[in-house]
Amino acid sequence: MNLLTPHKEYPTVFDIDYEGLWEKGIRGLIFDLDNTLCPWHSRSLGTRAGELLDRLRERGFKLCILSNGNLDKRGKILEELGQWEIPVIYPAHKPLPFGFRRALKRLGLEPAETAVIGDQLLTDVLGGNLVGTYTILVKPLNPREHFWTRYVARSLERVLGRKLT
Ligand SMILES: [Mg+2]
Repeated sequence: MNLLTPHKEYPTVFDIDYEGLWEKGIRGLIFDLDNTLCPWHSRSLGTRAGELLDRLRERGFKLCILSNGNLDKRGKILEELGQWEIPVIYPAHKPLPFGFRRALKRLGLEPAETAVIGDQLLTDVLGGNLVGTYTILVKPLNPREHFWTRYVARSLERVLGRKLT
């Protein structure tokens, strides 16, 4: 399987068929934060994303946030996620597998029971595929992104001769 190919793509996290995932045996969801659940660098999760996480937890999914960002100065987001007792792992250094393995351990689940959901092929999808989870790519909520993300994406695109983002 191509490590840069997600199993599924959706416009946003709100469009994902979570019931379908449950039927496939997926019990854990590892979410990227920036541009997946909330706009890049936003200081609050927002009501809609909060309600989604709440609904997924009620349904029985185990949830974890895996972010490459430094969330230390974005206190409200950590507080919000803390309210729902959702573990947050950062900085995760995706696509390296360490953060993903830590997240799986926190969830107490195997890769085959877990989906990674994010907006970046080179971090979220590549990392999830490397550790053997189901991977879902969504479109970035906001076109703004970290300089480094863009730089790495463009360089790799030149090597692969294929558009990545
Ligand atoms: Mg992201």
